[in-house]
Amino acid sequence: MRIPIQNVTPETGTAEICGWVHEVRDLGGLAFMLIRDRTGIIQVTIPKKKVSEAVLAAVKAVSRESVVRVCGPVKAIDKAPGGRELVPELIEIISLAETPLPLDVSEKVSAELDTRLDARFLDVRRPRVAAVFEIRSAATFAINEFLHNEGFTNITSPKIVAAATEGGTELFPIAYFDKEAFLNQSPQLYKQMMMAAGCEKVYEIGPIFRAEEHNTTKHLNEATSIDIEVSFTDHHEVMRILEKLIVKTYEYVDKTCSVQLANIEIDDFAVPKAPFPRLPYAEAIEIAKKKIEDPIKYGDDVSPAAERAIGAEMGGHYFIVDWPSEIRPYYAMQYEDDPSICKAFDMMHPRMELSSGAQREHRHDILVKQIAQKGLNPESFEFYLRPFRYGMPPHAGWGLGADRLVMTMLGLGNVREAVLFPRDLHRLVP
Ligand code: ATP
Ligand code: MG
Repeated sequence: MRIPIQNVTPETGTAEICGWVHEVRDLGGLAFMLIRDRTGIIQVTIPKKKVSEAVLAAVKAVSRESVVRVCGPVKAIDKAPGGRELVPELIEIISLAETPLPLDVSEKVSAELDTRLDARFLDVRRPRVAAVFEIRSAATFAINEFLHNEGFTNITSPKIVAAATEGGTELFPIAYFDKEAFLNQSPQLYKQMMMAAGCEKVYEIGPIFRAEEHNTTKHLNEATSIDIEVSFTDHHEVMRILEKLIVKTYEYVDKTCSVQLANIEIDDFAVPKAPFPRLPYAEAIEIAKKKIEDPIKYGDDVSPAAERAIGAEMGGHYFIVDWPSEIRPYYAMQYEDDPSICKAFDMMHPRMELSSGAQREHRHDILVKQIAQKGLNPESFEFYLRPFRYGMPPHAGWGLGADRLVMTMLGLGNVREAVLFPRDLHRLVP
């Protein structure tokens, strides 16, 4: 029976292993193969005079990254990885890899991100790349567990929709029988409708589609969003849930992913401390004004350069709160005493925005007014507005980018590294 490579020890006796040929070296009288599975690497030593003809033929025929099954006794040896080697009685080539390889898995030759993404199936064979997706999986687990324990109901909202969430133009149109339809840019309207449905605490982890022609290291055209919405609460409370979620997720990765963090060569993984500072938008702009050359003024979006300058000043995760109503969506609630600002927030990593949220406007007539103020037609939002006329509780929520969360957690240079098969302006395959 096959044994995971990490479990093979000199005490194993005779072992059967399956995996990929990481390396083959022929030194004349002696040949070596390194065999890799997702748990580790083992040296297979072939003393040519002592092994069968069939084994010799297999060593000669096999190429790097082929899938093989190898059986034989395991011996202790100092110089080999894991302090043991296997001397083969049998080598079966299960699947021969073509040569040359489109990508060097053993990382002796470094490759451009584009080349890596074109051959993602080979790229992910590298332990340091596999580690990113194992950590992403652990983080997703921690988030699901945290929200479940906090009493949230996991929902699934439609990705094929008839109307835009925010009336922007960044939508992918699709053919939907004889109707016009789009890929949804956010579950926003649906999670709010679930507040009218009495669910009180919902969350969804799912795809969002943005047809923006970005070409940056932090934008994708298909991203994964972690979204929550909570009834009978306000923006302060959902900010506390968000910072708690971030801390829990980092803690879980810190506790359970030491092997993966080592594979990525992260030896200073730091769990952020809550509470994160709350920085009013007006103060954030003042910091940016002092630190960046491009002109920026109250009422502008926080540009990438401003984001980085303010991030450097803040040093860790923080919130930007109390945004001008004009630059936030119609569904954000405005302050009673100063409607020019609203109860919206962004949660920031020093490098970039990770999340946007707000207390929502739950009063039907005010919401209609705010939709119109944004130059949108309330009639096209009737499916969304209708629930607000039949008992809508006050509510608040946020959306957190899962890809950016992983990117910033692991210090990756490009969000595409945190996504298996990224979709961008130039990439639709694989
Ligand atoms: P940005 O200003 O950085 O483009 P945004 O304000 O347009 O982001 P939101 O609509 O607020 O994004 O979405 C909430 C979160 O979802 C963002 O903070 C981000 O983490 C993630 N997100 C949104 N759009 C993208 C995208 N195109 N690629 C990757 N992540 C995204
Ligand atoms: Mg945002």
